[in-house]
Amino acid sequence: MVISIMSLPIDKIKVLHIASEMHPIVKKGGLGDVVGSLPKALRELGIDSRVFLPMYPSIDENVKRTFKRMPYKLYLPLEWRVFPAFLWKTDVQGVPVYLLEIEGVPFPADVYPSNLNLNTIKPFFLFSLAALELEKSARWHPQIFHLHDWPTSQVAIALKWHMYYSSFSKSYDTVLTIHNLAHQGIIQETDLMPWGISKEAFSIDGLEYYGMINLLKGGIIASDAITTVSPRYSWEIQTKEYGMGLDGVLKKYNSKLRGILNGIDYSYWNPMTDPFLPAHYDIDNISPKKECRKALLARCGWGEDHLPVLIYIGRLVEQKGIDLLLYSIESIVGHGCRLIVVGEGNEVYEQSLKEASAQFPANVFVKIGYDEELAHLMYAGGDMLIMPSYFEPCGLIQLIAMRYGTVPICRAVGGLADTVIDADTAHDGTGFLFSHYSSEALLHAIGRALGAWNSPELWNQIVRNCMSADFSWSRSSREYAKLYLELLGVSDFRSF
Ligand code: ADP
Repeated sequence: MVISIMSLPIDKIKVLHIASEMHPIVKKGGLGDVVGSLPKALRELGIDSRVFLPMYPSIDENVKRTFKRMPYKLYLPLEWRVFPAFLWKTDVQGVPVYLLEIEGVPFPADVYPSNLNLNTIKPFFLFSLAALELEKSARWHPQIFHLHDWPTSQVAIALKWHMYYSSFSKSYDTVLTIHNLAHQGIIQETDLMPWGISKEAFSIDGLEYYGMINLLKGGIIASDAITTVSPRYSWEIQTKEYGMGLDGVLKKYNSKLRGILNGIDYSYWNPMTDPFLPAHYDIDNISPKKECRKALLARCGWGEDHLPVLIYIGRLVEQKGIDLLLYSIESIVGHGCRLIVVGEGNEVYEQSLKEASAQFPANVFVKIGYDEELAHLMYAGGDMLIMPSYFEPCGLIQLIAMRYGTVPICRAVGGLADTVIDADTAHDGTGFLFSHYSSEALLHAIGRALGAWNSPELWNQIVRNCMSADFSWSRSSREYAKLYLELLGVSDFRSF
């Protein structure tokens, strides 16, 4: 979309974030955090940003009570029939949020379908068409659709290749943010013609991927701009090692690709006000962190002592380097450390971690599951965070840990390399990095961290460096605003 005036006031920009998760309504991981905080940060800049979400049956009843059903029905065409749908509206900390309920087509109870096929992605396809119909019910016309990952990349696909909706393409610009290239939305089909997507879309320059359909690939090609959640990840994914089979496509379209680092919501992740913590602290008075540590140890059934407390929070999947962690547990215990893990995912990892806690009950505590409260206590009560990821698009966990004065030990990939400064190489260091994907390299970094831990003055400085690093949205939200202005044809952002 090109706007003829040269200086579009920022408060005229209207952006609809179309996403599968938004904290606190529904969250499975970092995507939920980002959609829960970026639209709010954009509104603080004056941009009218709103969110569009599926109405999952699993949304908490108390949360649902805040939704109001909008009177006008939407009608979504698919195959030989039209699906009526309702729009619900609510407000999350000042951000207007629309939710879609489709008659007779429920969204998956667990947010993402476990098997992807035409039937299981159908709700998300209808959801994408609903975004194009939304203004009829919402009486609000966004200029920009900001899409997040494969479930909503279908909006850009419909604008480019749908027999009817492609006629809407002049009315909207699209930004697709790739939160994790590992999830591409691949289905074993050779065309989507019954859904209104033209035959030409199933080609090498479209949705076709080794004889199947790849929704993220289609979104990459069809969107006006693509972003990844850290600068380093934006070039890593153009390599064979991290490109997950899409490196060639990303390289071809890299003129519209850029990396914008995620932020975290500093009002939610704040050790001074966090309601889950037994004591509150900030950089001017860090000592109450000790109370949180004591409460965390008690929660694990341990008494207080001075052993370093290492924490791991997150999904238990290959991407996160759980293999390295498992291989290192015996040495971690041998170094006299405590290890606390909260996470869920691959059953093999879950089982191995449970076995490790049974083997070392005095040093290893494992909670399998998603536990927001325990995670907050761990961020505050831990001394060091372990994040040995094989790849990491941005990673929020290390940002939250730093905010809470817990020192990250990370593999130097993606957003981890962009956000953590090695304390052995710089006086403003915030953590310990390692490159080689091996448990030896992880243990070496842990060894360096323990060396610093044994020197209280140095350790306090690293903790202070962590707590004074700024990963709020203030800078990154401006980067997105600049991108929106560019898409709208405004090139002069000096006043911005
Ligand atoms: P991901 O790759 O899973 O999106 P991120 O680092 O981007 O990883 O963000 C993960 C988010 O989910 C953080 O807010 C983290 O605190 C939270 N989280 C992950 N696993 C758990 C868990 N088991 N219990 C509580 N919170 C969790």
